[in-house]
Amino acid sequence: MRFLASVAGLALVAGIATTASAQDDRPRQVLFTNVNIFDGVSETLIENGSVLVEGNLIKTVSTEAIEVPNAEVIDGGGRTLTPGFIEAHAHLALMGPSLSAMEANSTWEDFGIHATRMAEMYLMQGFTTVRDAGGANGGLRRAIDAGQIVGPRHYASGAFISTRGGHADFANFTSPPGTDTNFSRLNMAQEVSGVDDVYLFGRNNLRMGATQLKFMQSGGVVSAFDPWQLLAGSKEEIEAAVQVASEYGTYVMAHSYRKEAIMSALEAGVMSIEHGFHFDCEIAALMNEKGAYLTTNLTAFDPGLLDVPAVKNQPSSLRKAISASATFENYIPNMKECPVKRAFQTDCVGSVEACNIQIAYEKYLGNEFFGPYTSMVTLTSTGGELVALSGDFTNPYPEGKLGVIEEGAYADILLIDGNPLEDFSVTGTGDKWFDAEPRPESPETIRIIMKDGEIYKNTLN
Ligand SMILES: [Zn+2]
Repeated sequence: MRFLASVAGLALVAGIATTASAQDDRPRQVLFTNVNIFDGVSETLIENGSVLVEGNLIKTVSTEAIEVPNAEVIDGGGRTLTPGFIEAHAHLALMGPSLSAMEANSTWEDFGIHATRMAEMYLMQGFTTVRDAGGANGGLRRAIDAGQIVGPRHYASGAFISTRGGHADFANFTSPPGTDTNFSRLNMAQEVSGVDDVYLFGRNNLRMGATQLKFMQSGGVVSAFDPWQLLAGSKEEIEAAVQVASEYGTYVMAHSYRKEAIMSALEAGVMSIEHGFHFDCEIAALMNEKGAYLTTNLTAFDPGLLDVPAVKNQPSSLRKAISASATFENYIPNMKECPVKRAFQTDCVGSVEACNIQIAYEKYLGNEFFGPYTSMVTLTSTGGELVALSGDFTNPYPEGKLGVIEEGAYADILLIDGNPLEDFSVTGTGDKWFDAEPRPESPETIRIIMKDGEIYKNTLN
């Protein structure tokens, strides 16, 4: 239980910080000096800079000396200071080993305990924000933000919204339509038939703390009933999801593979295309016109996908995986030719240890395919823009920007050994997936992890 052991250590770091700031009424100030700054967008580092944090926000970014008499000073020793990383597509509550096993055997404790451990693991990997793409409601964020458990900022989607037989229909084979399931009782997945159901369950998600809605528009590989080519959801149903989201000033993310699915989602007003494997330049033009975003799990392009136990042990899944990968082969060249705003996506369902490895491998592939600068932007500012689409009154973190180092942004900060724009491995990559060694609780090269002005890791001394 190495993750539990670290909870005690983290509480201690946070405890010291609180005591120090209690001595006077002003918010605590932390001054990073002697750092090279990756601001989340620029291709070059701001060299030998300083960053002043006041309370939970960044107050000053400068290459001049900042005079603050009472600040706690952290000499960065020439290391790189970056925004905290942003995961734009995770499922913190889904522990696996399979969707049917979770439907048949899991209780709220199983999901809650797994989500708690996943949240801590993500933060210790340097992710200060996670957008959850289905299966978790607002309770996890409540526990994290109240300091009951340690984790990143959490943007929940509530229950997956899925048609009968769609990608989030996890019911037993003989289960009649409309029957309650384990997932529906816990509001982790809901089956919709018609716009009224979309209104009902969409509004229920937002009532339960979702910050955006997730619509399952295509099928998948390991799920039971859905060809990956499925076009699920009528125009009216997808528009209904967009309508409900807009009532709350927020947006819809759609699980979409085929071009037909992606184009109709964008036309309906969906702002975040998930996976988008049939991406091409025509899609790019429409995405850029609409201001939409894409997140893609690049592990789907790895030949190792066919070795994933959930894929290889299930003949129908293996067949689907082979046919899917054959049609995705132009994704990377198309993305290079016609770039769109792309955020980081791991999409891991499984144990904490397996997801730790998958995150590191996803980072590694991003750098292999797109290089370090694009990968850093993907991990930081693009994710920050994307989660901010939840809007002024639904966004749980509306006081500052996320994913950038600039004045007024949230103080979500990493201090990293080396320069990730030259050697991306310092972000904590791993070049193996299923045959990888277990990974450390936190990459050694990430020396400081600060979220919301609080330090959760500091190995400088
Ligand atoms: Zn997903």
